[in-house]
Amino acid sequence: MPGHSTDADPAQELPEWRSPHLGSRVRIALWLAAEVGEGNTFSLADLRDAMPEISEPARRLRDLRGAGWVLTSSRDDSALAPQELRFVRRGDPVWDKTFRSAGLRLLTSATRNHVLERDGYRCVRCGVGAGELYPEDPHAAPARLVVNHLVARRDGGGDTESNLVTECVRCSQLSPMRRDLQPEQVWRAIEALPERDRVRVLAWLVKGRRDLTPAEQAFAAAWRLPADQREALKSRLADLVAR
Ligand SMILES: [Zn+2]
Repeated sequence: MPGHSTDADPAQELPEWRSPHLGSRVRIALWLAAEVGEGNTFSLADLRDAMPEISEPARRLRDLRGAGWVLTSSRDDSALAPQELRFVRRGDPVWDKTFRSAGLRLLTSATRNHVLERDGYRCVRCGVGAGELYPEDPHAAPARLVVNHLVARRDGGGDTESNLVTECVRCSQLSPMRRDLQPEQVWRAIEALPERDRVRVLAWLVKGRRDLTPAEQAFAAAWRLPADQREALKSRLADLVAR
């Protein structure tokens, strides 16, 4: 699946995370790759035990998230205990000198904002908006949105807007919950749709993203107006609809 490749180099080819010559963020990335492993859980306490000399480990983990590393907490994944974090997937090879000097580590906030704006501040997979609850799981934490690469940087994907999508953390981590879905059940739901909707679902599957309908785009734009302007627009629309 685009953006979810796991063709990682074998861990033994990575630099040694204990090396004191490396920066904190690089050492933490290498430690995750070598000691924790994708899909496994750890805690900040484990990290402090491994590298007691590193200050502000939580901030370093945020930096790694900015470089495409997917780390989830109990806020995103109800299977995790409050202190647990899951190392879901590696991101950019932050230890790679050529990579670092290319200056590709972080998306600019302008690019990120353009992508969020284009996608209507919604996950292009499931449609959830920032801070909204998941309709099928109302007791889980509200959705958080991230801007991800369709083709990962390490597979040659660039920071162009056509290679970037807005996803919620849950969709971007291929939540294990979704493995419970029965393919036949999913198929029957699609089969039961009117022809028009089947065509739309097919188009979305082909593009790997869901387009917002004009009505959804209009709603997303209206919802982002300041509260007073949104209220004014709401009354105006109520008048128009009542006519
Ligand atoms: Zn989603």
